[in-house]
Amino acid sequence: MSLLANANAVAALGTLCKIDNTSPAEMRLAPNREQDVRQAVAHGSVDLNLDLTALAELAISEEGIEDLQRVWESAAVEYERNHPYQKLRLRVETGTLEQAPEIVKIIRKADNAGAVTIVARDLVGPSRWDLPLNIGAYGAEARSAIESYWHAQLIEFDFTDTARHNFDLLIFESLAEVERVRDKRLTAGFLVVQVETPDDLSVATVRRLNEAIGFRAAALIQRPDSFTTCIQIFLDNLAHNNQPDIAITQAGVHDAPLFIVGDPAFLDRARISTVTAHLEDELERQFHSGAIETDEFSDMVDEVAAAPGPDSEAWDAESGAATETVHRTARIGALLVSRAGTLREATMVRPQRHLQAQVFDVSGGAPVQRMRSFEAGADHEINVRIGPTSMNWINAPRGFPDHALPEQETRLTVTLLAPAFVSTPVAQEILIGPTGSSEVAKFSGSVPADAIEIDATIIVYHKGNHLQTAQLSGPVTHGENVPEATGIDFSLGLPSEAELGRQRPFDLSIWKDETELELTIFDANAAPGQPSNTILHPALGGIDAVVAAIREELFDAARRIEQLETGIENAGLRTLNNLAAQGEYLRRILFGTTSQEHIRRVQVTSPHSSDFFPVEYLYDYVLPDETAALCPEFKRSDGPDCSPNCPAAAGDSRFVCPSGLWALNRVIERQVRPHKRAGSRQPEVAAHQQTRLGLNGIIFAASNEVNTPEHPNETADTIVTMQAAAPVYPANTWQEWVDHVRDHYPSLLVALPHNVESRPFHKLQIAASEELALNRITLEHVRPGTDTLGSAVLLLGCNTANATVAYQDFVNELRCAGASLVIATLTYVLGPQAAKVAREFVAQIWRSRDSDTVGEIMRQVRGRMLAQDNIMALAITAFGDADWRFYTERQ
Ligand SMILES: [Zn+2]
Repeated sequence: MSLLANANAVAALGTLCKIDNTSPAEMRLAPNREQDVRQAVAHGSVDLNLDLTALAELAISEEGIEDLQRVWESAAVEYERNHPYQKLRLRVETGTLEQAPEIVKIIRKADNAGAVTIVARDLVGPSRWDLPLNIGAYGAEARSAIESYWHAQLIEFDFTDTARHNFDLLIFESLAEVERVRDKRLTAGFLVVQVETPDDLSVATVRRLNEAIGFRAAALIQRPDSFTTCIQIFLDNLAHNNQPDIAITQAGVHDAPLFIVGDPAFLDRARISTVTAHLEDELERQFHSGAIETDEFSDMVDEVAAAPGPDSEAWDAESGAATETVHRTARIGALLVSRAGTLREATMVRPQRHLQAQVFDVSGGAPVQRMRSFEAGADHEINVRIGPTSMNWINAPRGFPDHALPEQETRLTVTLLAPAFVSTPVAQEILIGPTGSSEVAKFSGSVPADAIEIDATIIVYHKGNHLQTAQLSGPVTHGENVPEATGIDFSLGLPSEAELGRQRPFDLSIWKDETELELTIFDANAAPGQPSNTILHPALGGIDAVVAAIREELFDAARRIEQLETGIENAGLRTLNNLAAQGEYLRRILFGTTSQEHIRRVQVTSPHSSDFFPVEYLYDYVLPDETAALCPEFKRSDGPDCSPNCPAAAGDSRFVCPSGLWALNRVIERQVRPHKRAGSRQPEVAAHQQTRLGLNGIIFAASNEVNTPEHPNETADTIVTMQAAAPVYPANTWQEWVDHVRDHYPSLLVALPHNVESRPFHKLQIAASEELALNRITLEHVRPGTDTLGSAVLLLGCNTANATVAYQDFVNELRCAGASLVIATLTYVLGPQAAKVAREFVAQIWRSRDSDTVGEIMRQVRGRMLAQDNIMALAITAFGDADWRFYTERQ
């Protein structure tokens, strides 16, 4: 007997191939194979990996086949003994989809096989399943089968309602019926279609159907004896809490040929018993939002909890558990609808998940959950997960960016920074599926006896994606029944949405908070089970003094170049050499001698713009000699990238080349994230915005100091140059500025102010003496209240990103007032040089292509300006999402 004629042997082999993730030819029949198959089968849903060609070519003895057969039979018998009313669900992955119908024919004969599904995770449709089951049906027989279904309480249908597009279940009597509604864009969780010939039973048919109808799983059934009976038995079986794949297989009267394709994640949860779980989520959500009173809430929770659970034995009759579930939930469902309007929609879509935390005092015997405070001098455990809102967990105020995760189960990295709780930041990896709660990350630490408050910053990454940051804070007390125990909660003000979530990952993420420093280097290609990142905590005390020296040195060089009217190769050379030497040393301190070539995108986050980690000045090439000359190729290239003949890049220490600085050769994004900043309006990130910043107008203001005796026309030249790109609205007073913002909705605001370093607040001065104090910056200065998209602000005055009082931060004020981007300066600047940078910036936006991001534009501006001897280019930096793009009329 050949292997392919033996369904049980094929099933066992497919299971083992899946477990070992290998092909049949490579399979080693391990001594514990029987144990392995038994374990896989015990779950009820068995994953198989089958390739018919490989199986047909497999050299296997008669004894080998019999051995595999015995392995499957014993596992199937054991499952049957433990689950007398349930059949196995076989889920087959196959490389060649043309083989799928043949595989189904073979494998469905395996012992105790209840349903065979060909796995397809890429079907497009809603993950909907609810009770009563909302059904759409096309074709006279299909409709009469539904209309005459005996247990009407379990289903909902209205065939006259032609406006309805979204269903739990869609039934078509023929492929022709599907064609007739092709343009209606119907969707359902599960689709059933009756087909005519065996040729229609194929993955290709399912994919074609998915082009016309949205669904997550489908069954094609070849003309059974009675389609009516088939549908009605199918509904009965669903009422017995079976998944649709099992239910339709049991409904295939007299073994009508059947072909099921779908997403296992959807099929697993498409059971009547899951309806109550979704209802509980919605109850929790409405309770938290204040729509339900406490007493009413606990009554409702009790009522839902009393509904039959998934393992209840009451699912053996349609009038039993399913009907009881309808009765218990219908009243609550109706109530919730009246409160929230759209419960049905809410329960059908996946519940919004949140970053969540629990705090336990673990100093005694059993852990004691703390909601109001940390216990002074006690050991604690902070648990963190991502899940639907729950009363037992403290929920972060903003939703978790689920859309940034893949459909399959995946790993997240959770990092905890809490200096008073754990001495160094700690990271853990947790698994998260497409729905439900993630695994829990547990962080142990001690609360000092003299601490007043614990602030824990929690950062969640997916590979290189920085998904969410949140801060958990709570007072430290003796006991929880004291007035000071005001509650442990996530700070409202810390923007923690998908703000840092994006499609394009970072390769290096840097967190700096004064002396606290963490570098996370991501490896997107890490093998399963291997860490996807490396975390460094370099001790770089004193780096702020180094940064201060760099700031001074840059300004001195700019002034020298201006006074001597020479190029960077003369008056700027010493500074370039010093920068390169420090950048080369810092790079070696951080990364040793390993290559950083794979790091192309860097994100730096700190509470204030002045808390500056100098990643822009890291230098890739060899340490230049003290007498090194400027690379002769750099200026010829007229951009950030030097020519292929760059001697510095080739390792010649006699030359220094700006193209080796990270400011010119990498995309760098900076974010300011002050702790507990209330009322922040930092705009959403670019990654999820279809909209680009339109260059429809530019508001412009400049201080009188921009023009100098040597450069009397800088302001006028700037206006003229910018007018080539977009209408310019000059403002001589801050009121004019506000009026322009309101009237013209511009996306680009350019200010070349004088930064008046007065007390108590610094002021931005434009024209002769028009001043705006830092504490008076409002939404009106940045964007009209109706607009959802912030502006880009060029703030090129002295030290606009270098506040003497860290929290009095122009960058942060503008970001919180709604600016999508703020481009600011790290040093003192000379007015004429600032004007040139502003002009170059507008020119680069104007010539940018659709795909050019701000990160790339910054690179170009710096490169072009340096090539034109404007060393100030190394003292400007951008805060906000580096992926923002601009739309210009030129495009
Ligand atoms: Zn060069």
